[in-house]
Amino acid sequence: MRVLFVTSEAHPLVKTGGLADVAGALPLALGRLGVDARILMPAYAGLLDRVEVTGPARNLGEVLPNVRAQLVPARDPDGGRQLLLVNCPALFERPGGPYLDEHGHDWPDNFLRFGLLGRVGAMVAVQGAWPEWAPDVVHASDWQAGLTPAYMSLLGARRPVTVFTVHNLHYQGIFGREILPMVGLPDVLFSIEGLEFYGHVSYLKAGLYYSQFLTTVSPTYAREIQTQMGGEGLHGLLSNRAAHLQGILNGVDQDDWNPAIDPHIAAPFSADDPSGKAACKAALQREMGLAERPDAPLFGVVSRFVEQKGIDLALSVISTIVDNGGQIVILGSGDPGLEWHVRGAAGAMPDAVAARIGYDEGLSHRIQAGCDALLVPSRFEPCGLTQLYAMRYGTVPVVRRTGGLADTVIDVDEASAGTGIVFDHPLPSELIGAVRRTVDLYRTPDAWRATMLNGMRLDHSWDRAAREYLGLYGEVLHAD
Ligand code: ADP
Repeated sequence: MRVLFVTSEAHPLVKTGGLADVAGALPLALGRLGVDARILMPAYAGLLDRVEVTGPARNLGEVLPNVRAQLVPARDPDGGRQLLLVNCPALFERPGGPYLDEHGHDWPDNFLRFGLLGRVGAMVAVQGAWPEWAPDVVHASDWQAGLTPAYMSLLGARRPVTVFTVHNLHYQGIFGREILPMVGLPDVLFSIEGLEFYGHVSYLKAGLYYSQFLTTVSPTYAREIQTQMGGEGLHGLLSNRAAHLQGILNGVDQDDWNPAIDPHIAAPFSADDPSGKAACKAALQREMGLAERPDAPLFGVVSRFVEQKGIDLALSVISTIVDNGGQIVILGSGDPGLEWHVRGAAGAMPDAVAARIGYDEGLSHRIQAGCDALLVPSRFEPCGLTQLYAMRYGTVPVVRRTGGLADTVIDVDEASAGTGIVFDHPLPSELIGAVRRTVDLYRTPDAWRATMLNGMRLDHSWDRAAREYLGLYGEVLHAD
């Protein structure tokens, strides 16, 4: 089976969040099951220099009005992932991130940049843009790839079949109606039965409407997005499509996130011999300028600073952590106000509170390895990966009962196989209660150790998730 992944990021090439982890790991895991998977993504600045180009580029001509592009076949040097890169320097060769400029603002031509990605996806899928390889399944992710199924619908294609995954319903790719001619889409698609959303064009809705099957990244989130509370205005469409919507939990890349072989951390450790974790904790305290106290419960946060993630809630429990003899290290970036508050908290109590504003892959590993507990107080969370990494690294997750957090963390008071602390509502008072329970558990060494080991022994491998996706592809192909 051949599967084309259309995505705007893939670890280890380009990453802003969990989508990259999935788009990087799932094709490899499917490859181990015999699937021929390729990743179609933009050739962002410098990317062509970091991959191994495996053949001549193919000119695609004028893909969108006045937008010419090339397709470049490549392989990523370490993982052996097969890539097809959309090369269009005018749209992708620029500083900043995949979606934002250096000042944190959306690129004003994102509709065109990801319109191009979507269009090239459809060209590879059904128009033989890459003649030596035609997929059976097109698997597109999030709004950035939402137009691929819409373009395919115009071509009247039944094959390949289309699967669309929502990694986060909050980001929708909403643009004015006037962009339609610029991305070469006819006005007839601008309809409730199409990609129209409250008078605008929604790339996410395009993906949801025109794909044969929808998935999201946890069973609970699949239910939540069908409700008015969690549906971000799309609950009607999603509940209508409930028979074609499934939640499949993400996995953990066993090579990237394995404390026994992790090159980023101070000492290796595992469930069979967790002793190296103490050295990781001491090294993290040193690195972050915290007092080197082995007995202090050390909390961590690794997150984008956006409202979804409840960073404001994490800030509200800092004094509880410190008053209880604990410490906290926070890594992340995003909302400037939250960045300012986090910096301020660290400046006020440098022995107990440490912050790093920015994106740092190595430090994210050292926090997972060195902390005792990880705070994930999200208001909503499609799957969440950091709590999975935490459990693998013997770090007890403290999470809100929502989405994938609810599906992956078992509260210690609810089962003997408990793996973390779970609270129900995104309120400071509830997180304070959760932190107090965490500190109490930490001070009960046998129970703490059992909780750590329960988490470390879980199997969240991608192989399980890949088998579920493969079964799904088979069903969609069969139903076609
Ligand atoms: P989301 O995709 O909503 O950001 P996930 O928990 O699914 O949340 O995935 C977040 C991914 O991004 C994880 O791999 C996490 O380690 C990583 N990450 C988030 N913020 C940072 C940061 N500042 N530095 C390094 N890695 C980060």
